[in-house]
Amino acid sequence: MTPLSTLREMQAAGDLSIVAVLAATAAVALAIAFRSAVVLGAAFLWLRLSAFAKRRLILRLPYADGQILAELRAAVPVVMLDAAVVVAIVSLGLLPLGPPTLAGGILTFALMFVWFEIWFYATHRLLHTPRFYWIHRQHHTAKVVDPLTSLSFSLLERLILLSGSVGFAVVLAQWLPLSAPGLIAYGAVNYLLNVLGHSNVEVFPGWFTRSRIGRLVVTPTYHALHHARYRGHYGLFTAILDRAFGSVFPDYDQVQQRASAGDGLSRQGERIAPASGKAMEG
Ligand SMILES: [Zn+2]
Ligand SMILES: [Zn+2]
Repeated sequence: MTPLSTLREMQAAGDLSIVAVLAATAAVALAIAFRSAVVLGAAFLWLRLSAFAKRRLILRLPYADGQILAELRAAVPVVMLDAAVVVAIVSLGLLPLGPPTLAGGILTFALMFVWFEIWFYATHRLLHTPRFYWIHRQHHTAKVVDPLTSLSFSLLERLILLSGSVGFAVVLAQWLPLSAPGLIAYGAVNYLLNVLGHSNVEVFPGWFTRSRIGRLVVTPTYHALHHARYRGHYGLFTAILDRAFGSVFPDYDQVQQRASAGDGLSRQGERIAPASGKAMEG
């Protein structure tokens, strides 16, 4: 019996104890930390050992002094906050779920995916305004991203991200029977793509960003350039809103192509003259 199922039974019986809640929070935090250690450890090993990863580095530059330690320090409270939110939702019975049907799973996944793309783009752009940048500064400790950047947030920014994902699911579940497998699948895809997006390794072929699908979805180069240059590429997993609002870097295709061919950028702030000759803003 897991601490969460114990909590669920206690909540159903109207008999919640603070000790059970704290024990469950600690257990969930440990489980999240363990999962993160496995995934991030594997990602760092891949960066260190794989010839493919070394050849396709997007920015051929070292991490900043103290970057990993600063990110690790930010990741610990982030994991604890994630655990506290999971436990609060279970112990308060805030997420009523429907039957795990295939259609329900696909619908749940699609709703979460589409909504979070919009939420992320809007809040991310707002966090890049001078007034709110202090909330987002921690995430930009990394000019050259590493897998741990995927957990490097201020607590306030993490809360904004959780409101748009878990908070949205809680609101939606009051109206629609959401499916647990759909939510779990979205959470897993979100987590793994987030780590890949902070790998600093271009995994797609050089023609990808000019293909029909490649114009819609992001690549690791896409987000690596956001960290290197700040102003542009605000989207999470799709480039649709950046294309609609003109926030795609003009040399994105060329940088992606070069990284994919083993010729990543080697100077901080480096830009490539785009084929169209447009001015490079940012
Ligand atoms: Zn940003
Ligand atoms: Zn990032």
